[in-house]
Amino acid sequence: MPKTKSQSSGNKSLPANQQKGKKVCTCCHEEKNMTDFYFSSSPMYSLDERIPVCKECCKTSVLAEDGRIDFDKFKDLLRNIDKPLYFDLLFSSEESVKKENSYLSDEEVSLHGMEILQKYFTLVAMRQDKSKSYSDAEKEGFIHQNSNRTKKEKDKILNRYSHLINQYSQNKVSSHKAQSVIQQTEKQIIWSEQDKQNKQYAIEVVGYDPFEEYPEEGRKFLFNQLSPYLEDDSNADDAYKLSQILQIIKNNYQIDICDKKMSQLDPLKDAESIKTLSDIKNKLVQSNDKIAKENEISVKNRSNKDAGKSTLTYLMRDLREKDFDKAEADYYDQLRGVGSQWATNMSIKAIKENGIFDENDKKEIYEMQLDMIAALNKEVDELKEKIRVLTLENDRLKAGVG
Ligand SMILES: [Zn+2]
Repeated sequence: MPKTKSQSSGNKSLPANQQKGKKVCTCCHEEKNMTDFYFSSSPMYSLDERIPVCKECCKTSVLAEDGRIDFDKFKDLLRNIDKPLYFDLLFSSEESVKKENSYLSDEEVSLHGMEILQKYFTLVAMRQDKSKSYSDAEKEGFIHQNSNRTKKEKDKILNRYSHLINQYSQNKVSSHKAQSVIQQTEKQIIWSEQDKQNKQYAIEVVGYDPFEEYPEEGRKFLFNQLSPYLEDDSNADDAYKLSQILQIIKNNYQIDICDKKMSQLDPLKDAESIKTLSDIKNKLVQSNDKIAKENEISVKNRSNKDAGKSTLTYLMRDLREKDFDKAEADYYDQLRGVGSQWATNMSIKAIKENGIFDENDKKEIYEMQLDMIAALNKEVDELKEKIRVLTLENDRLKAGVG
């Protein structure tokens, strides 16, 4: 028997677990008890304070065939029923299922999606999140900012879900724009001949399109990042190393997204989101550092042989190799020239002002500088000695000796 509006709203004064009557699920179309529907304080469901999809459907509709949670579907469901998405709660739910089934591996636990979801919906129904909406969680970066978790736990949560947090936060930015604007920006991504060549070459070397699932804008970035690594045959021939390089590049892309997102936020109003993003970024930077060290991948000084071929330094080096005395003299003049000095100073100034370095970068730069200073000192000493010998020889020649 279908319920009328007045009958349903008559339940409103009763505690949620004592509501009487029935309600038809908009998903499975079955008539079920009021208590078979999750409570909601969203104004969208204010009539009976219950979401229109039954508890059973909420869970089964977001599971993949193997029992895993389909996170994209899960996110869409929560947005539709206006419940918050908190990855720290999802983490707690997974850990709780893991504890109850201690004989299972992490991989096997993830197949218990139904139980994880059961726990998740129980957790979001608790006092602190009961009246939170999807956009409340979105504003917090999909993680409770005021929780008293240990740093280790927070790191674990970020490690497990940072890719999803990033992806879903990104959607937030684009959903604010009109659809037509999104389509426009997608069209505006122009691939130069060089970009296209890089992409073609990468697919040939890797054997498949490694960035298939990325948006157009990201793909251009990713392929161009990959290209210099592939010029080194030892990278291209080593399947494992190549997979590690791909990981570094994908991380770089996420770092780039974090940076762009942070630059759009207001440091006062969005302090929490900025903190989440900055945590994610640091994790990614550390992870890249580790991958690079373990696999001897040079991240900072890739040998891009084509890069810089048109630069003055390259041209001068080319001439020097051909042993042109004049080039040598010119080279020195060029370096001392007002123009060169100005360019050098501007470049150093820009690096100082705009470079954002994390601790790992700073340490590396510091160590690099120490090495450079030592090398330069050595060079100066050698040159001084050369001058001394040449001056002596010059004096001898002038005096007509020897
Ligand atoms: Zn249903």
